[in-house]
Order: sequence, then C-alpha cells, then structure tokens
Amino acid sequence: MDEALLRRLQLCPDLPTLPTVAMKVVELGRDPEAGVPEVAEVVALDPALAAKLLRIANSPLYAQRRKVDNLRQALMLLGLNSALTLALSFSLVGAFGAPAGSGMDYRRYWQRCLLCGMASRVIGRRAGVRRYDDLFLAGLLQDIGMLVLDAVASEAYTRVIAWGMEHELLIASEHEEFNCDHAEVGAWMLEQWGMPDSLVRAVRLSHARTRDDISGAHDEVLGIACITLAGWLADIWLSDTDDPGLTFRIGELAQQLLGFDAATVHELIDEIGAQTPEMSALFEVELVDPQRVRAVLDHAREVLLVRNLQIIHEAAEARLQAEQMAVRARLLEERTRRDGLTGAFNRAYLEETLAREFRLAEDGGWPLSVAFIDLDYFKKVNDTWGHQAGDEVLREVVNRLMSQARYSDVVARYGGEEFVIVLPGIRRDSARMMLERLRADVANRPINLPSGEAINVTISVGLATHNEGAVYADAETLVRNADRAVYDAKRNGRNRVEVYADS
Ligand code: GH3
Ligand code: MG
Ligand code: MG
Repeated sequence: MDEALLRRLQLCPDLPTLPTVAMKVVELGRDPEAGVPEVAEVVALDPALAAKLLRIANSPLYAQRRKVDNLRQALMLLGLNSALTLALSFSLVGAFGAPAGSGMDYRRYWQRCLLCGMASRVIGRRAGVRRYDDLFLAGLLQDIGMLVLDAVASEAYTRVIAWGMEHELLIASEHEEFNCDHAEVGAWMLEQWGMPDSLVRAVRLSHARTRDDISGAHDEVLGIACITLAGWLADIWLSDTDDPGLTFRIGELAQQLLGFDAATVHELIDEIGAQTPEMSALFEVELVDPQRVRAVLDHAREVLLVRNLQIIHEAAEARLQAEQMAVRARLLEERTRRDGLTGAFNRAYLEETLAREFRLAEDGGWPLSVAFIDLDYFKKVNDTWGHQAGDEVLREVVNRLMSQARYSDVVARYGGEEFVIVLPGIRRDSARMMLERLRADVANRPINLPSGEAINVTISVGLATHNEGAVYADAETLVRNADRAVYDAKRNGRNRVEVYADS
C-alpha cells in the first residue's frame, strides 16, 4: 500500500470500529475450543441478533421440515461456522454510518454489500465450493475499504465517488487519488480487526480479473473467484439503466473465472432475485424493488442468451476505454484547479466560481454568502515552529474547513494564510452559524504536528452576503467587504466571526 496513505490510516482516529458483539464473535471464531454453548452465550447478548439467527434457520435458505425454536437448535442446524459468519454479518450491516462531510450514499453501499454477500453464496454453491456459507461474509465485506477511505479522507473520497459509482470507474479513480484501491485498504482494515486470514486474502484479491490473478489452494481460489464475480452481479441490480455492456462483461467474467456458460449465469441471476425479499427482511435493508427483479432477469436473458455477443463485446470495450479516459481527463482538470500545498481550490478557480455564482445569484435572486478567513498571528507559528510546521497547520486548517463545508461550497486559498469560502444560496444567519462552528472547530482542537507537538491556532472570519438587504455591484465588492469584516474581527480581539456592517 502507498506509504503516505498507510501512515494516514494508522493515525486516523475515526476508522470504523467493530461493534462489541462482532468483536466477541471474531474472538470465538479464532478459538478452536468454542462450541455451541459458548457461541449461544455470545449471541444471546444481543436479542435482536439471536432472533435473526432463529429466523434464518427457519427460512427457505436452510429449508428443513421441523421448526427450529431455540438458539441452540438453530446453531446446530446452521453449523457453528456458518452461525458465526451470519452473526458477524448481522452485526456489521449498517453498523458504520457516514462521517461528517461524506458524500457517499451509505444506504446504497449496504444494499450493494448485501447483494454481493448473497451472490457470493449462491455462486459458491453452484461452483461447488465446500464451505459456501462462508462466502457470504467475504462478499459482504469485500468493499469495506470504501468506508475506510471515506473515514480517512472523506473530502477526497467524495470527489472520487462523484465520478461514478460504477465499480470499474471507482477503482480507476481510487488509484489516481490514493495509489491503491479499496480492496487493499479493506484487507488492511480486516487484518486490524483480527479477521481470519482467508477472509483478508479474499478481500485483497477481490478485484481479480482472471483465475491466474489468484493464487492459493483450489477451494480458496474458487471462493475468491465467486466473490469477484458477485461484485459484478450486484451492480446489475443497482444500476437504474439496463446496460448490455455490463451484463455482457459479467457473462465473460463468469466464463473466465468459473467456466460458467450464459445459461448458468442467467440461472444465478434468477436465484439471487428470488432470495432478495427474504434477505431484505432479515437484514432490514430494502434491496431491490420486486419489479426490478423481473426486469433484470428479462434483460439478462436477452443479453446473455439472445443477442449477438460479438457486437456487445466491442461496444462494451469501447465504452470502458472512453470512460477511463474521461476519468483521467477529469482528474487532470481537477489538479489544475487545486492549490498544491493545501488541496483547497486555487485563486484562479475561485475567481471563476465567484463570477459564475454571482451571475447565478443575480438571475435567481437568491443570497450568496462569501467568507474571508485569515489565520491569527500566523507569523508567530512560523517563527516558533518553523515554516514546515506552518505548512502543516495550513493543510489541517483546510481539512477542517472542508469537512465543515457542504459539497457545493467552494473552499479556496486566496493567498498566503488567507482563505475564501463561497457559499451559494446560503443566507447570512445560516452562514454565520456555520462559520461560528468552523471557528470553534479550529480553536477547540489543537493541531497535531508529525513531530508529536500540538499547536493551538485560531482564525478570524469575515462574512458578507449578497442579495440580503444589500445588493452589491459585483463579486469583487462582495469579497472586499468580507475582507473588511476580517479587519473588524482582528480589531475586536481575533478568533471571531464578524459580519460586514451594511450587509
Ligand atoms: P494576524 O493575521 O493575526 O494579524 O497576524 P499574522 O501573523 O497572521 O499576519 P501576517 O498576514 O502579517 O502574516 C502572515 C504570515 O503567513 C506571513 C507569511 O510568512 C506566512 N505565510 C504565508 N504563506 C505561507 C505558506 O505557504 N506557508 C507558511 N508556512 N507560511 C506562510
Ligand atoms: Mg494575512
Ligand atoms: Mg494572519
């Protein structure tokens, strides 16, 4: 993994942590002595979890004639290993919420995870994997690295995700942004959690394209191939449009990874669709609308069994290449907009944004707030701690500005230790509240330097709002007035937010 990213991960205080029950379950899984009584004891700690295990033991997934009515029976029926896997799955789904500033859709994330888990198990059974129940957890967790990246760098990750949730594109943009993808990061996280090696390996290799990319014992390779394919299958349920290219690629991968023919893939899709209502109910996550189940199946039949595959193949390749080029172009463009030191937008992009937002506010008659921010006594920071520490402080202040701002707000470096935030459509009072939060966030949490020292810094903030009472001639006047308010803040003692007097 990329060194810098690894260091960031190790230092990040907000990584997802395992729920207590999950932690106990992982421990039990490692204990060769653990039997039904021990597992029952842990599961019983969480009555909702116990109820779900009972329910799944009685569900068509584990069909049997007699009704299972207590936890021990359920554990025996499921098998200890599968029961542990399921217990973990139940306690993990939905356990991690979005960090502040995240632009990721967590509901959709968990939908996809569950679909991956289901698909992994269904494919595993068909492929003849011996412990195919275990694949559920591996499929479920294969994208956990996305949550980790979102926790450690939600601003950057929001940008990555904004370019498209389609997995192939997502992976390409992760490589551009982080020098590695979420499979590697996810494997690292699972290792930290003490998850079994086989699971860590499965997640690390989950972006394999062919069997040759995967090494290991036969059953393990087969299992990983199933998880990989499952990731692709999950996507066809979640995309709004029926994309023949995607369905076709699934057909191709199924052939390459597992030797499945088109008819088999079609049957798998059918089977996954049939299980969605039960899974939705068990995990309390709405998966796919029943009408969509029918539509996906019809579409898959047409693509996999009826259409001219060569034509679809060529179209899919061409589209993929075009998309990858588009990702690269967007990344390059993005870089020319950013300030190299802090990652905030640069002055040129700020001017462009201000002009555009000013025009839009004029046309729409809605408010446009602009905040000017200046670090207090910043020369002293440089003098006391050195220029590099000063740079580090600037970077961290920008991180905090960005995590308080909405995705549509533009945080830019005006120059030196001065920043501007453009807040389109935000009224003066809301802007003032948000800026007050921001000021407190900087003032209340010292900034940790890599050397281990902690520095207290504060900011002075000036706010001016266009189209609320005052109407300004142009964007420059608006910024100048926000800057004037900073002078008031400095004069009134610093570490303050001031609103421009006649605005
Ligand atoms: P105040 O604004 O509270 O009145 O005091 P100040 O000390 O912050 O005031 P001033 O604007 O005079 O100082 C700004 C300092 O910021 C001077 C400059 O060396 C430093 N600076 C500007 N750009 C950078 C940078 O990129 N990195 C570092 N480390 N320092 C910078
Ligand atoms: Mg200054
Ligand atoms: Mg200053």
